[in-house]
Amino acid sequence: MKISEVLKDKRVTVSMEVFPPKTDANFETVEKAVDEITAMKPAFISCTYGAGGGTSAYTVRIAKRIGEAGVSSMAHLTCVSSARSEVKEQITRIKEAGIENILALRGDIPEGSDFPGPDNYAHASDLIGVIKEVYPEACIGGACYPEKHPEARDKREDIQNLKKKVDAGCEFLTTQMFFDNSIYYNYLYRMRDAGIMVPILAGIMPVTTKQQMKRSIELSGCSVPPRFKAMVDMFGDNPDAMRSVGILYASDQIVDLIANGITHIHIYTMNKPEIAKGILENLKDVI
Ligand code: FAD
Repeated sequence: MKISEVLKDKRVTVSMEVFPPKTDANFETVEKAVDEITAMKPAFISCTYGAGGGTSAYTVRIAKRIGEAGVSSMAHLTCVSSARSEVKEQITRIKEAGIENILALRGDIPEGSDFPGPDNYAHASDLIGVIKEVYPEACIGGACYPEKHPEARDKREDIQNLKKKVDAGCEFLTTQMFFDNSIYYNYLYRMRDAGIMVPILAGIMPVTTKQQMKRSIELSGCSVPPRFKAMVDMFGDNPDAMRSVGILYASDQIVDLIANGITHIHIYTMNKPEIAKGILENLKDVI
């Protein structure tokens, strides 16, 4: 099913995200985790894409498997470090696999590289244009950044660029992780003010280890409220306690979002079915 249809549901939707294996050797482990997450019947599951395309076939295989198990699936696709012909080939593969949804992404620019060159698509909005040519029936989503994309000069410029992406045909947006809901509410207000009216899925990352917290901040640049920082400082060296804290913090964020009328939640489950299960258990009387 197209995600644009899934999101018409007036009830709360909870979608989840998985990532593909890096090699054939760990395909089975990933497959098992994905199957367990699929069995929880989220509104849809998206599968990430290794920038540069090294794991592109796995993204399609995993997304296809999710669809065959009766859950709507979405394949991520990046463009900035791949040749235009490779990007087109991947869109065709996604189409032939019967995957109806694509998250159109630029991808990070590898440090020291000279991407984007003349044979690359420079922005997600350019990728949306080519998806529309190769696979016009696809439902296309995009990424957005409540604390602004790290390369954007300021929040205003970032939202203006985001508007170009939506005008190019992006039907919904999923946010980068955030740990302070007021940042999301403020962002939503500014997006609507800029005329961006598509659904904006709140991306929630359950942080269940101290190392993951460090990595998440490095990668996304998002801020950590003192309340959460205190929890990580206190429990970060105790894996069981930190896992519970991560599940509770993410659950608390989601309950607050729902209480404030937000209906589309996307959980970065990252191939950890036990974390997804823990959050759903906490939400069972709320959604
Ligand atoms: P864009 O929308 O192209 O924006 C990138 C920058 O360019 C921004 O600063 C923006 O303001 C600016 N910009 C955009 N359009 C224009 C324009 N027309 N003119 C001038 N400036 C412009 N990475 C992966 O490698 N694989 C994944 O599977 C993956 N999944 C993700 C899922 C989500 C929900 C999110 C939030 C991120 C994901 N990423 C993934 C990371 C993403 O690839 C990076 O954040 C990347 O740096 C930006 O991608 P984008 O699609 O947001 O880029």
